[in-house]
Amino acid sequence: MPARTEAVRHHTGSNGVLGHHTDFLKRVADREKNARVSKQPPPLSVKQHAAHRKKMSGVRFIRPRYAAETQINVSGIFGKWKRYCTDMEVGDWKTILKKIDIATMEDLFLWVCEKHNIKSWGTSLEYIRQFQQLYTTVTGQYIDRNDIKELYKYHDCVLIPRFGLRAPNIDGKPVLNVDALRVILTFNIAYDTGVVPLERQRVNQAGCYMIICYAGVRPAELVNNERKPPKDGSLDELFGAKAVMSAEVQSDNEGAEDNVATDEDMKVVEMLLLQETIGRGRQKALCYEDILMMIVCHPVTGQATLAMSIKFIYHKGCDNKPRPTIFFFTPSKKLIFCPILLFLALALSDHAFDAKCIDDARSVLAAQVPGGLLCVPLRWKESMLKIPFFRRVSRDGALSENEAALYATLRDLMARQSLDAGFEVAWTPKAGRRGAANAANGNAPDAVRDQMMRHDPKFFTLTRDPRATKDMVPEEVWASLPPDPEISELEERRAKLKQGQYRFDGHEDEDEIRELIYKIGLKRSQREKRIVKEYREYYFYHRPTWDLERQAEGGEVEQYEEPAIDLVIPERARLAEIFCHQPDNLGDDEMARLRIEVVDLYVALCGKRETVKRKRAQRTAPAKLPTPELIKLEADPDIEFKPIPGPFPLLTHQNQCPGCIGDERMSLEERTFRYCRPTKRNDHFDDNHLEAKERSEQLGQLIICNDKRCKDIQMYTVDHFRNHVQSVHTITLRTSEQAQERRARKLKLRRSRQSAAQAHG
Ligand SMILES: [Zn+2]
Ligand SMILES: [Zn+2]
Repeated sequence: MPARTEAVRHHTGSNGVLGHHTDFLKRVADREKNARVSKQPPPLSVKQHAAHRKKMSGVRFIRPRYAAETQINVSGIFGKWKRYCTDMEVGDWKTILKKIDIATMEDLFLWVCEKHNIKSWGTSLEYIRQFQQLYTTVTGQYIDRNDIKELYKYHDCVLIPRFGLRAPNIDGKPVLNVDALRVILTFNIAYDTGVVPLERQRVNQAGCYMIICYAGVRPAELVNNERKPPKDGSLDELFGAKAVMSAEVQSDNEGAEDNVATDEDMKVVEMLLLQETIGRGRQKALCYEDILMMIVCHPVTGQATLAMSIKFIYHKGCDNKPRPTIFFFTPSKKLIFCPILLFLALALSDHAFDAKCIDDARSVLAAQVPGGLLCVPLRWKESMLKIPFFRRVSRDGALSENEAALYATLRDLMARQSLDAGFEVAWTPKAGRRGAANAANGNAPDAVRDQMMRHDPKFFTLTRDPRATKDMVPEEVWASLPPDPEISELEERRAKLKQGQYRFDGHEDEDEIRELIYKIGLKRSQREKRIVKEYREYYFYHRPTWDLERQAEGGEVEQYEEPAIDLVIPERARLAEIFCHQPDNLGDDEMARLRIEVVDLYVALCGKRETVKRKRAQRTAPAKLPTPELIKLEADPDIEFKPIPGPFPLLTHQNQCPGCIGDERMSLEERTFRYCRPTKRNDHFDDNHLEAKERSEQLGQLIICNDKRCKDIQMYTVDHFRNHVQSVHTITLRTSEQAQERRARKLKLRRSRQSAAQAHG
């Protein structure tokens, strides 16, 4: 039956893999259906055009199209202006603004400097610019040029000296060069004793360090740095209408002479000048669709190699002038520097690949390029395309499914890690931009830009003392520190009110005592922060002199030894070992195997968790130290990489947490951790686990006790769970009334603090 055979052959033809016809046909149908729904707005009628002409003739000024960020800034100065008008009894803000004079503007900025803790004149000038934008937005006019010149002179001659405003960024910004990158990446994986809510965040952080350094992008191109718009309706008040009408038209009641336009027509015309409510599309952050991973043939060896390109679209000013930048990455020899392995690991742990067969490092790194092709792009699942690549991790260690990581988290962790790694000046995420130019040398991957650097590279040397940490104040200094008189006074007052009683619930002065406790805590932590910072500056300034003097006196030059790596999570310890001791002369096969291992370790690490309890938890066995000499090519068979080595954790003590016991991302020691008092445990339980349990109850989901012995007990209410842990494990949680009370108290306290802060700000 030759005819039949031929028909089959015809269908399998040149595009090989088939069985996808149905899917394709469905896509065609969907697209054609969508195309029929016209996206173009209907044209206006003759009458509507006439109404439009009439409307536009009354427009004095079309407001400039400000970026969202600018609108928020303008609404910020708007709030200050309104408060100034009220507090200084100037009058109605709108009336005064419309006839603003130079004296009022000068007085406004004197008041702004008094009320706000402004340190650099960069900030005060920014406020002046924003005020000009506010004026234009509201009145549809520009402030008189001579007035503005006078205002700037007043700023320079009066405000700067009076408030001691310094020049912006007088210290210079540290720069992330490749050496600094090596230090911070090593520190992050091998030495950092600080805790992150989920180890995935540590891996995210490493990825951000690499991309910021190699590509010189702003952090806002990676994570979410969008400010929340104010909720007081000021954005709508300022920017709701696109045009400012002339005064005559506003008072004129449209005249009766040509009543051609109906209400309906007018409405259509009015709509043209109203701000569209912008639909929330994808978040402003690096998303999966910006990343392309592909297996390519190495141009020389012909070997299949994983490569990656990333498209950055959120550069500064992108709202007005999109100018995407594409970077191309190839694997680096030093595994610690390789962004491709890290990105691959994050994608694997997100199960982001469209091909079902891609589920581990080997399935990608050992794949071949089919004959005749140069490149196999690895496609993402359609559902992943708009998903941010670096995502937010909540305090209890849950990775968000669709929210981008926050700029503030990246920034704070970067500052803390750079100080703890011994750098003199804390890094800011902007540090990468200027260092980027020299990133492509040495062992770093080739990051090839398709356009010139957006900024001139300027280089500063980074001062680093590996012996320094963020908080390096010696115990003796803390011990001999004289008490702060202001704090002592508050403490005396508290002692007098409490009269030696430990508990003060229901005490007649309960509110004042709580307020005092809060204030004392705040003042103490502010003072400690100040001293930590001062000591560090003192140390970095004087240490070189101390060292020189000791040498001159014939003392030995102190040698610095890298500290031993001491980590609890086995995957992290193994990664540290590979990164710190990777030999230079590995063959292709060994490299291939190590690459696969690194990706697998990253993936496993992403799901692990450590909490502050780690430091206090008793170690049952000393964590295995990596061998300091040469890297071992095989993972140590003694190290157990599966979750929960040894016995099942059990609830055996009344101070344990019945929530943590079931968290398989944590070590056995942390899961069975004993708190010092049941109250502390209950604070922890209510803050970290209660909400999830209550949600389960609402959704009618099963609540289980995570002690293995109780796995068959089915519970559906939180109270049932409370009773169970009480009767079976003698653990007394707070009753739901007690928990509610505590919540209400916390909320009340937060509210009163917020309103206090607003009054001051
Ligand atoms: Zn817990
Ligand atoms: Zn139980």
